[in-house]
Amino acid sequence: MTTPVLRVQDLHVHYRTAAGPVKAVNGVSFDLAPGERLGLVGESGSGKTTMALALMRMLEQPARIEGGRVLLDGVDLLALSEEQMRRIRFDRLSMVPQGAMNSLNPVMRIRDQMIEIFNAHGRHPDKAERRERIGHLLERVGLKRDVADRYPHELSGGMKQRVCIAMAIALRPQVIIADEPTSALDVVVQRQVMETLGAVQKDLNAAVILVGHDMGLMAQFADRIGVMYAGRLVELAPVRQIFSAPQHPYTQMLIASIPSLEEKRLFKGIPGVAPSLLNPPSGCPFHPRCPAAFAPCPTINPALEETDAGRWVACHLHSEAVLHDSRA
Ligand code: SF4
Repeated sequence: MTTPVLRVQDLHVHYRTAAGPVKAVNGVSFDLAPGERLGLVGESGSGKTTMALALMRMLEQPARIEGGRVLLDGVDLLALSEEQMRRIRFDRLSMVPQGAMNSLNPVMRIRDQMIEIFNAHGRHPDKAERRERIGHLLERVGLKRDVADRYPHELSGGMKQRVCIAMAIALRPQVIIADEPTSALDVVVQRQVMETLGAVQKDLNAAVILVGHDMGLMAQFADRIGVMYAGRLVELAPVRQIFSAPQHPYTQMLIASIPSLEEKRLFKGIPGVAPSLLNPPSGCPFHPRCPAAFAPCPTINPALEETDAGRWVACHLHSEAVLHDSRA
């Protein structure tokens, strides 16, 4: 792998509650190469969005980063002051949020919201240059220049999401985090928005972390996929391998649950419910739902191990040491 632009090392995020800490992100580590598209998937409550917000340092109370490092080009974002981090957001690391509806200011024209980003970073102070840049950004995401003069409520959901993409790329960041960017859109608009995101990503050669649960969308967009379960990364592999030969039983069940157009078969969900992160199951957190669980699973939590070059899995079925012990 080329030198990663982003390294996440042993990240822990807890929600502090009266009943105890809810471990939403529990020791997640991965690298992201420049220009790479990484998809992060998992059921609701698996920790994906919490992790995305933690990388941006945009978590709100009672969530707290309890440990780990997030290195952007070697600089640990978790060690920066709030002011240093503010300068990095949009400039080097930006986010396309979930639900553009709530992230745009309803009482400000799009132009003024974009100007705020430039002003906060001391860019394009010249009015004519700023106007040109905003027009260019809107065109870049497939919108007309006059969208700049409109208020969010005058735009469709897809247009608003494109505006969010335009804002996210306004300062040409190295890393873009897109948190379920198409969740509230119909499938045709979803596709258009994803194409737009893909095109601007290529233009900038930015790395993208796409957070979501739509495996079909991930298959089309991502180079690698990370599967999260109960706040942990349980499999990380190139997209082709994830779909053709998933190794973790949870990933296998996620893939098996995708409806197929070619093959008529019963729709298969994943039995059971996602575990409580307040009192997660002992051992492998997937063991109460896992059809392949065996002796060590209820007591030993499997580590994420490299099984082939570039393939990482957290499952005893793929851990030589544990398999050897259980056979002995
Ligand atoms: Fe299933 Fe055991 Fe692997 Fe967990 S470690 S996924 S319970 S086989």
